[in-house]
Amino acid sequence: MLAPSTYVPPTLTRVSTERLRSEAATAFNAFVKAAKAGGVNVRAVSGYRSYAQQQSLYHDYVLRYGQETADTLAARPGHSEHQTGLAMDIGNSNGACALQACFADTPVGRFAASEGWKYGFIIRYPAGAQAITGYTYEPWHLRYVGKELAGSLEAWKASNPADLGALERYLGLEDAPDYVP
Ligand SMILES: [Zn+2]
Repeated sequence: MLAPSTYVPPTLTRVSTERLRSEAATAFNAFVKAAKAGGVNVRAVSGYRSYAQQQSLYHDYVLRYGQETADTLAARPGHSEHQTGLAMDIGNSNGACALQACFADTPVGRFAASEGWKYGFIIRYPAGAQAITGYTYEPWHLRYVGKELAGSLEAWKASNPADLGALERYLGLEDAPDYVP
């Protein structure tokens, strides 16, 4: 857990209109370049978010959908991976299925699922794993974990289908259906 309200990553690098920690930014640029070489245009939608930005996003969701639904859509302030600078929400350049489960079946969604690990990124909130991760399926939310971990997780996933590719299970952590204290 991060020191919630004050945590700011040590180094942030601009990626398109967004920011990521430097090592994640370098990896993300390589990911985008590889996608482009295959005719797939990745859009960086949302990277680093400060505590204040997360607070405002979460608050907005609560107003729109109520707290119960908001908690499945956005992390409470101080609990978001976006505050670490290691997470990036991605989209298609034409905006197809933006932030919806159907994103998984778009060119960028498919590229991320099959190739992201080679660049150190994982789909942090996999399909059907809400009882483990606390989040509904977010095929657009990439978390940078480094090539080594992403590679081992990819291999582990194939031999442990019941764990649904959840990082919690891979790391032997407790399931976290409710991350809220
Ligand atoms: Zn996200």
